[in-house]
Amino acid sequence: MLDQLLMLQNKLIQDSGFEEKLINEILEFIKSFKGTLLYPRVIKRKFRIDMKNTYIILNELVKNDLLTIAYEIYCSECDKFQNDIYDSLNEIPKNICCEYCGKDIDIMKDAIVVFKVKNNAG
Ligand SMILES: [Zn+2]
Repeated sequence: MLDQLLMLQNKLIQDSGFEEKLINEILEFIKSFKGTLLYPRVIKRKFRIDMKNTYIILNELVKNDLLTIAYEIYCSECDKFQNDIYDSLNEIPKNICCEYCGKDIDIMKDAIVVFKVKNNAG
């Protein structure tokens, strides 16, 4: 487990070009979301890094089985997230309306990728 973490750190340092200290801070921050949802923009904002590197890091953590991907639906009409969260795009009903304003939701446009931090993360 420790070896896996070291390899993960090295890979992240290599791929993002960030310093080890920053990578460790980001990993610690992500671990604090254990068992809950993590939004990419939260990391982006907190560490002032760009979206590309945010996704490089998150995707690597998915590969290492510390995060899983989930989908949230956002209504662009009333600016609200729907209550349901889906583990895959296939689980999202084909015809779905906003539960607040009734607008038809276009899954391809309005589904947002979020990350679930698994309980084995650190
Ligand atoms: Zn709505």
